[in-house]
Amino acid sequence: MLSKRIQTLSPSLTIGITTLAQELKAEGKDILSFSAGEPDFGTPIAVKNAAKDALDAEKTKYTAVPGIAELLQAVADKLKRDNGLDYEPSMIQTNNGAKHSLFNLFQAILDEGDEVIIPAPYWVTYPEQVVYSGGVSVIVQTDDSNEFKITAEQLKNAITSKTKILMLNSPSNPTGAIYTKGELEAIAKVLKGTDIIVFSDEMYEKIVYGDSVFTSTASISEDMFLRTVTINGLSKAASMTGWRFGYLATPNKELISVLNKLQSQSTSNINSITQIAAITGLDGSIDGVIEEMRVEFEKRAYEATDLFNAIKGVSVVRPSGAFYLFVNIKEITDDSMAFSKELLSEEGVAVVPGVGFGSEGYFRFSFATDIKTIREGIKRIESFINSKR
Ligand code: PMP
Ligand code: GLU
Repeated sequence: MLSKRIQTLSPSLTIGITTLAQELKAEGKDILSFSAGEPDFGTPIAVKNAAKDALDAEKTKYTAVPGIAELLQAVADKLKRDNGLDYEPSMIQTNNGAKHSLFNLFQAILDEGDEVIIPAPYWVTYPEQVVYSGGVSVIVQTDDSNEFKITAEQLKNAITSKTKILMLNSPSNPTGAIYTKGELEAIAKVLKGTDIIVFSDEMYEKIVYGDSVFTSTASISEDMFLRTVTINGLSKAASMTGWRFGYLATPNKELISVLNKLQSQSTSNINSITQIAAITGLDGSIDGVIEEMRVEFEKRAYEATDLFNAIKGVSVVRPSGAFYLFVNIKEITDDSMAFSKELLSEEGVAVVPGVGFGSEGYFRFSFATDIKTIREGIKRIESFINSKR
């Protein structure tokens, strides 16, 4: 009865574990959840007020498929102001979260057997969407020694005549790694002269720590601008996960035209109230609020990194951005799924096993929760690990 295609798809592991932790909590169990990729802050007041005004003004009808003109202009202005990128409003499409931006893109570009190079560890959704589009994921394994970043050499070795897309995500979910300008330039050099398209998922752009600097992939050179699709949204930076707002930008007119065709036959426009609220999320009005959240995340990142590194047999690279630690437990186990399941049942602590991100021997710990809970959670993880020795 069901299509072969749908049977190739696995459910989202990050959402699955987060939902399980919520259910156990609702049953009254003492659960500390570090599985959610979701900021623990509220939506900024200015954004909520913009949405209330939009409702009162009856902005409740269908809109143009890629989004209303003011919103597309706000995205273009943001990309110019923050990233130095010259996209026209006609080069932009807004979507129901950046997950949807990626879904549209893979559907529009991949034919059966086309290859997508994905550095691991990767966000769980990339290879699933590739498979669902008929493509093939070519996973390139990275590790702690290079802060989990693909090198130009690794990229060169992974390219074949079937390579269509290179997937980049900086700052990274799940490692927090950020590609420097120099590293992106080295990647650009390898790509020059090829037809490879780069997807640059910049979702965690605003959550950057210490002296790390975020660079947009498309800003590296004219050649990179032309081959890159920039993907971003407000879910993480503005703590707006439930609003479902993401966007993509590409100077490729043919690509944006087929993306609009696809969206016109699937979801049409995104929610009209979200569109108006998103303008306030993008125009600089909430920069101060975003900075307050970033500072709080930074404190947690540093303290949690130190606490984990003090546990025998555990190590973690201090993240340059995002709100995750990718904790190395290779000295303890090579079965991160079993480790995570036991940790949840024995200590009531929910983390996501590294195997879901394509890298065994790690777990992902989201510190998008208050510092007291983080301290208690790491204490429980330490006692769990000690009990296994
Ligand atoms: N990219 C990355 C790297 C993510 O972690 C997420 C997860 N939320 C997304 C894209 C998608 O975000 P959303 O669909 O909520 O905009
Ligand atoms: N992206 C977040 C995460 O990695 C949210 C869940 C999801 O969309 O997968 O946890």
